[in-house]
Amino acid sequence: MTNKKKDIRALTKEQLRDFFVENGDKAFRGNQVYEWLWSKSAHSFEDMTNVSKATRQMLEENFVINHIRVDQMQRSKDGTVKNAVELHDGLIVESVLIPTDTRTTACVSSQVGCSLDCNFCATARLKRMRNLNADEIFDQVSAINQESLLYYNRKLSNIVYMGMGEPLMNYNNVIKSIDKITSPEGLGMSPKRITVSTSGVTKMIRKMADDEVKFNLAVSLHSAIEETRNRIMPFTKKFPLTELREALEYWYAKTKRKVTYEYVVWKGINDKREDIEALVKFCKYIPCKVNLIEYNPIDDGEFQQASQKALTDYISILEMNDIVVNVRRSRGKDIDAACGQLANKS
Ligand code: SAH
Repeated sequence: MTNKKKDIRALTKEQLRDFFVENGDKAFRGNQVYEWLWSKSAHSFEDMTNVSKATRQMLEENFVINHIRVDQMQRSKDGTVKNAVELHDGLIVESVLIPTDTRTTACVSSQVGCSLDCNFCATARLKRMRNLNADEIFDQVSAINQESLLYYNRKLSNIVYMGMGEPLMNYNNVIKSIDKITSPEGLGMSPKRITVSTSGVTKMIRKMADDEVKFNLAVSLHSAIEETRNRIMPFTKKFPLTELREALEYWYAKTKRKVTYEYVVWKGINDKREDIEALVKFCKYIPCKVNLIEYNPIDDGEFQQASQKALTDYISILEMNDIVVNVRRSRGKDIDAACGQLANKS
């Protein structure tokens, strides 16, 4: 048979309405089915209980729903939940639910593996296999939202694109997934509660600014000294700090929104005075805040968490310069769910 079934969720609402009209039904049926596909997150046509059996059968004959499947769920002793999610072609990505007293955050993947080569990140060791499409990203969020309701009795409050992959290397699908997450037919979340994190793909930061996106931007900086950054994140040779600075200035000029710099302090790599001073200088370019992330070792001797003294120095010098700094303790370390640990181990 040559009649390969189409992915129904690749259709817009309009296209779905047209499909029903072309097949002798009412356009309204398209709205109903669209709602099942998105806000009700139906995994099969069978689930669509207010749609007649004949219509469901007709849909079955024409389409598939390529929904993700949570293959394995692990819960950390600190309450963090990690999902290993199977995609329709059998590939696996991971996503994480991070509860705190005031929020529940979903950390989602944007690619299977990653094409970048940050030496300290476990995901970088899995080469990039493919980009996720928008609904595969949306489904991760929706699965975590359901788990949040189940385990914590509250909806998801925040989303970070900080799982596997580089979101700005899969820009179109990331944007489409955010459109869906923020639309009333999806999850109706505010874009202010969504953060996209990049290792610093400068031309795409400019594109985001031009597109006047409404969500937040985080940049994994890790060093404001070119040589150091190039050494630990080799691909950044293509994206020098001066270009990053200019792209961020452009972002701020267009959006008037602060950027968050993610930063891990490692022993012997970026724990000296000159490293702190370079960061302070970089932070003066545009309004920003710094998240100091605890290092999560990935079986590699090269990188070790810096001393407490080095961290305290970072905090006090940044604060002396009126730069907001937060320390982000690891969550879900016991189940390999913390930053940089997502590597499909199980
Ligand atoms: N590619 C994007 C999205 C991944 S986000 C980006 O780089 O921003 C994952 C965050 O965790 C990034 O800030 C990354 O630098 C950080 N990270 C990677 N490996 C880590 C590790 N082993 N310990 C702590 N943080 C790590």
